[in-house]
Amino acid sequence: LVRLRARLARSQNALGKGLLALLSRDHLDEDTWEEIEDTLLGADIGVAPTQELVERLRERVAVLGTRTPEELRTLLRDELLTLVGPDMERAVATEGGVSADGEELPGVVLVVGVNGTGKTTTTGKLARVLVADGRSVVLGAADTFRAAAADQLQTWGERVGARTVRGPEGGDPASVAYDAVKEGISEVADVVLIDTAGRLHTKTGLMDELGKVKRVVEKLGPVGEVLLVLDATTGQNGLVQARVFAEVVDITGIVLTKLDGTAKGGIVVQVQRELGVPVKLVGLGEGADDLAPFEPEAFVDALIG
Ligand code: GDP
Repeated sequence: LVRLRARLARSQNALGKGLLALLSRDHLDEDTWEEIEDTLLGADIGVAPTQELVERLRERVAVLGTRTPEELRTLLRDELLTLVGPDMERAVATEGGVSADGEELPGVVLVVGVNGTGKTTTTGKLARVLVADGRSVVLGAADTFRAAAADQLQTWGERVGARTVRGPEGGDPASVAYDAVKEGISEVADVVLIDTAGRLHTKTGLMDELGKVKRVVEKLGPVGEVLLVLDATTGQNGLVQARVFAEVVDITGIVLTKLDGTAKGGIVVQVQRELGVPVKLVGLGEGADDLAPFEPEAFVDALIG
């Protein structure tokens, strides 16, 4: 976790350093406030949140009069935290339940998102975290369209000690998802993680398919969590994806991947607002250990440096 924090700080703290330097100028004239705005927009914080933040900073700086570096840091930290960390439940819901006829049900997590965002990798990393926590996990390779996806997931499964349920290539994703949950029930597994396909070019196809996966799985028991995986490096594109997926299924949490490769962590703010759903996990690298819970305070500290 310490290593992850360091990596987060490395990728993100240009923003906070830039803001602090600007706020520390003797004269905060209009040009400086514009530069502050540009800095925030450049980090993908988004137009409305940027305006709100700048307005609050202007008010507070005016009240402050003379500004010590420590006061400025505290002020900026407070205001960023208000934007980044609204009070939301950020734990991934992996608890199972009991069916009407007394059968133990695993927690079911659907992992959705556009191909290439890091869906399969995230599913594997999450399995690893759960197994390390003493939970038994079954993986469902419901991305039956990309030939390599099931192999990739199975490799993760073997590495972390989770069984992978897969179907024939080109088979019905919903039936693989169903089989995976069935397997989870018969093995009395704690959690079933289902990796789905994400081809955005046929939106109706995706809509039908994802909706069906969820409905079919729900015949066996509730889906506790639908995690949308977004690639932080794609900026506004990620928001467009988020909108499309939110029309298809009820997203309950966001995973923001590849934060190690961008200083544009401000997308956290936009996507939480857009969907009204918390960022729950962040990806900070390709390795097995590079998945971390999203902690607003640690994130803001990384921003400020
Ligand atoms: P999928 O098509 O959405 O299932 O995407 P994959 O899981 O196959 O990931 C696509 C690529 O992104 C792979 O090369 C992953 O190693 C890489 N990747 C996934 N998550 C992260 C991350 O948090 N940071 C970095 N740097 N790379 C990542």
